[in-house]
Amino acid sequence: MIYLDNAATTFPKPQSVRRAASNAAMTAANPGRSGYDMALAASQQIYRCRVKAAEMFGADSPDNVIFTPGCTYSCNMVIKGILGSGGHAVVSDMEHNAVMRPLKALESRGVTFTAARVSENNDETLANFRDALKSGTKLVICTHASNVWGIRLPVERIAAMCREYGIPMMIDAAQSAGVLDINAKESGLDFVCMAGHKGLYGPMGTGILIAQKPELLSTIIEGGTGSSSMSLAMPELPPDRFESGTPNFTGIAALSAGLDFVKRIGTARIHEHEIKLLTALYDRLEKNSSVTLYTSRPDLRSSTGVLSFNVKNHDSEEVAAYLNRRAGIAVRAGLHCAPMAHAHFGTQSGGAVRAAPSYFTTSAEISALSRAIGDLTAGR
Ligand code: PMP
Repeated sequence: MIYLDNAATTFPKPQSVRRAASNAAMTAANPGRSGYDMALAASQQIYRCRVKAAEMFGADSPDNVIFTPGCTYSCNMVIKGILGSGGHAVVSDMEHNAVMRPLKALESRGVTFTAARVSENNDETLANFRDALKSGTKLVICTHASNVWGIRLPVERIAAMCREYGIPMMIDAAQSAGVLDINAKESGLDFVCMAGHKGLYGPMGTGILIAQKPELLSTIIEGGTGSSSMSLAMPELPPDRFESGTPNFTGIAALSAGLDFVKRIGTARIHEHEIKLLTALYDRLEKNSSVTLYTSRPDLRSSTGVLSFNVKNHDSEEVAAYLNRRAGIAVRAGLHCAPMAHAHFGTQSGGAVRAAPSYFTTSAEISALSRAIGDLTAGR
């Protein structure tokens, strides 16, 4: 199989991640609950991952690192925490349903939102965000990189604008964590939502929320934390306040190895590798008059490792099925849980075919994809 669906989840995972997952599954007791050696060792292992994540993403302290089951959960925590009692939000028009569905669900509580159009020109994008602000805007949300088009958004500049107005800013870093540098403190990003299982090379079921302003959030689930157990109320302080129930120890232990992997290779090298592969793919697809490309040629400054396209007279799902059948190539077609991002380029009815490499993808695999598309358009 040629796996090009890394925007959904990375595969394969590094050896070290697989090893950490299997060791953790064999050797752990419930962390944070008891004082015997095996439970303490598990707590310490989780704490070490918190410290690593705080360093990597510029959190004020390890306590600002909250482990979640994924980016969807991280987004829900921020959106429901800040907008639970109503208010207005500004989003980009590239957001995933992990952002849009919680917002929509809150409409019954008086939440409204405005989508700011993303432009290839960052000045224009910034102006569109500014124009969308209202007096009751309580939160600005922006994806760091589109999961459909690989477009990078100027989140640091949007965060600086939010600071001018005193509005909290959340970024959806599902597609950028592990590929682009993120420093919450330096960039003034109040909330950074991440998946652990994509560019951080951890297992599915892991996610991180960097909450620089945890005091603005309320809990969305409550339960045991192993701390302040006499009180029926949730602990006041993070991370316990936001981490009820037995943690996903196996996942966090493996995610920790994923963070080590990313640190060892370096985000710049990972990003360069993916963009190099995608520019090669872009150049070959561009020569095929039966292929429709929507975005500019990928480059480091404005893109991440995702390229979506269509083949004329073929439904995107049909193309994905052909690639799977003919060449064992795994890509994702359809709407990628981001209908607004598709509407941006007019692909909301049929979707598009998305190719997403990882650090482990080779040039030969990318060539196999462009060859298979050539076969399809030549009627073979
Ligand atoms: N946001 C974006 C931009 C994504 O690509 C995804 C994953 N498809 C998510 C949020 C949701 O992440 P998870 O599946 O980890 O909850």
